Amino acid sequence: MPIDATQPYDDANIFARILRGELPSKTVHEDEHTLAFNDINPLAPTHILVIPKGRYVSWDDFSAKASDEEIASLVRAVGKIAREGGLVQSGYRILANSGLNSGQEVPHLHVHIFAGRPLGPMLAK
Ligand code: 5GP
Repeated sequence: MPIDATQPYDDANIFARILRGELPSKTVHEDEHTLAFNDINPLAPTHILVIPKGRYVSWDDFSAKASDEEIASLVRAVGKIAREGGLVQSGYRILANSGLNSGQEVPHLHVHIFAGRPLGPMLAK
């Protein structure tokens, strides 16, 4: 079910539980403000989720409330994962769903990184 991204942050969401260590995940990158881990249901050979450690529902929430340091950390983590994962040469796609029309399911901001095969058109028509 897509979530309403205007709702307050829900500490019971699955990524909050991963951040608290209550659920396992395969870490790809971690720093003070950002965690990246493999998606449990990969849609491409490489499918990584990059999340802020702070309590942000969506991109607009994050961009309004996060510190410059948190924002820089997330953006730099995406690039570092792409470079160090060898994704730059063959190419990759980043995507962040926000709210109802996007189909966002987990109400904690996450950036998807997809790579490892031709990814097809940007959106279904
Ligand atoms: P959204 O549709 O919100 O943009 O993407 C949510 C993503 O979270 C999906 O790709 C889904 O497979 C992934 N996901 C959901 N639950 C878990 C989980 O428990 N662990 C991991 N690693 N990924 C999850």
